[in-house]
Amino acid sequence: MSSDLLVCGLGPAGRALAHRALAHGLSVTVVDPNPDRRWSATYAAWADELPNWLPPTVIASSVDNPVAWTRRRIDLRRRYVVLDTPALQDSLDLPGARIISARVADIPRPSRNRPESARLLTGQVLTATRVVDARGIPRSPDRAEQTAYGVMVRRPDTETLFMDWRLDNGAAPDAPRSFLYVVPLPDGTTLFEETCLAGRPALDLTELRTRLHHRLRSRGIEFTDSDPVERVRFPVEGGTPGRRTFGAAGAFTHPATGYSVATALRTADAFVAGHSLWPPTARAVHALRRAGLRALLGLPPADLPGFFDAFFALPVASQRAYLSGRDDLRGTAAAMSALFAALPWRLRRDLAAATLGLG
Ligand SMILES: Cc1cc2nc3c(=O)[nH]c(=O)nc-3n(C[C@H](O)[C@H](O)[C@H](O)COP(=O)(O)OP(=O)(O)OC[C@H]3O[C@@H](n4cnc5c(N)ncnc54)[C@H](O)[C@@H]3O)c2cc1C
Repeated sequence: MSSDLLVCGLGPAGRALAHRALAHGLSVTVVDPNPDRRWSATYAAWADELPNWLPPTVIASSVDNPVAWTRRRIDLRRRYVVLDTPALQDSLDLPGARIISARVADIPRPSRNRPESARLLTGQVLTATRVVDARGIPRSPDRAEQTAYGVMVRRPDTETLFMDWRLDNGAAPDAPRSFLYVVPLPDGTTLFEETCLAGRPALDLTELRTRLHHRLRSRGIEFTDSDPVERVRFPVEGGTPGRRTFGAAGAFTHPATGYSVATALRTADAFVAGHSLWPPTARAVHALRRAGLRALLGLPPADLPGFFDAFFALPVASQRAYLSGRDDLRGTAAAMSALFAALPWRLRRDLAAATLGLG
């Protein structure tokens, strides 16, 4: 039995795509080794990135003024939301979909004589008018990763910290840097997460745990060994842009934040409608973002707070263009140029060398 759409992988991206395809009246088959797996990650996004069709119940908390600490405190003035992960998953329901619990072995390239299909590990071949790979990105030592270690503490009166680069986590000033991320959760707890933004290899979780505990102690924040923890490790690069991939598998992950969930939610309708998500402008932005990742990976650790200080001093529209405008070539290029111009000479030189892969 062939469907209009076959979605391989039921993470946030695949489920969002299947859900929207069903909402638009398509027949949908989904394949995942564990389709009923409950998601446990804490997902967050900029409020202006989310699509209107998402019910308000999926927003766990929302803050108008998240804060970044670089060498100073900066109000970001852009609404940031923490999603209620179980509510998000439930809202992306799949009424009428054919759900197959299996692993996809490969998705052959279609040709004139071969329809779009996916072959399962069992050998079974599924066909559809359109087959989409939403299987995420496999880990590899060649890929930069984001890592984080978080603890959920009952202390709801803290401000939301998007990035706090202050050095009260016990790390040496010239050691690879990590920052603190703090967001309120729906159950009344607060997530404090020590995060390595991107590394190849990224900081390991034991080191991040040690740094987090040091930081919490130095700020007088009480925690216990029985507080729930969150462990984070995922690639921030990889995936293949194209009309047959979606989500992290489709290179949606922003290398400077690791975010891809809001992009998947926002672009699902256009993808279902058959629009290309990769016009030349989006491919050019993708190339610029990858250059940005090379710059981040190549900067001396002690320079990261200064880099983000300059970034968050840009107008909110420029920050938005760089962080969210996946096909806004003009805005992305303008934000990058303004950032470059705002940096001290020495950092510009380091950045140029890192971006070009020198040194
Ligand atoms: C703890 C944590 C917190 C995060 N926080 C954020 C955040 O705040 N905001 C944000 O945007 N991103 C966040 N991320 C990143 C986030 O994981 C990814 O952006 C997101 O999960 C990517 O979704 P995806 O559906 O593309 O891929 P995945 O979530 O990787 O889903 C892939 C799916 O494919 C299935 N699959 C794999 N192989 C096969 C196969 N062979 N056959 C069939 N199915 C297969 C898997 O079972 C899985 O269900 C976070 C990640 C973690 C781990």
